[in-house]
Amino acid sequence: MIIEDGTVVSIAYTLTNDAGEQLDTSVGGDPLVYLHGAQNIVPGLEQALDGRTVGDEFDVRVAPADGYGDRTAETQTVPREQFPDGVDLAVGMPLRAEVPDHGPVVLWIESIEEDTVSLSLDHPLAGEHLNFAIEVVEVRAATDEEKAHGHVHTGDHHH
Ligand code: ZN
Repeated sequence: MIIEDGTVVSIAYTLTNDAGEQLDTSVGGDPLVYLHGAQNIVPGLEQALDGRTVGDEFDVRVAPADGYGDRTAETQTVPREQFPDGVDLAVGMPLRAEVPDHGPVVLWIESIEEDTVSLSLDHPLAGEHLNFAIEVVEVRAATDEEKAHGHVHTGDHHH
């Protein structure tokens, strides 16, 4: 089966930055499973997978514009006490926030100081070229429910 919109795709991947540092990998664990054509993964990678099939192995270099966007360097520092007790804050963690006159945005925790937390509009990998080594492990047709939800239902996880 060819990868096209409405297929569920399993890939093994390793992600490195331009410095050659490994940022993430599925090797040694479960493959990444996503619904093709539903913006589940960064656009540049989704595009590179279009038309591939099981067993294909390839490398793709994704520019920031087709990855996690360019770096805007817009940061905000907020008092730590604004976060509810019991919330485990970690650098690189995404937070959803409502911005007046703007709607919902995702902010990323850039650093945590003693009394303050610095938040950034930039994804931690914004501005980076993403170098993926990909192997296509499985391709199947999505169910109607998966297509309606825009994501994959795996195993016994249904909602
Ligand atoms: Zn669902």
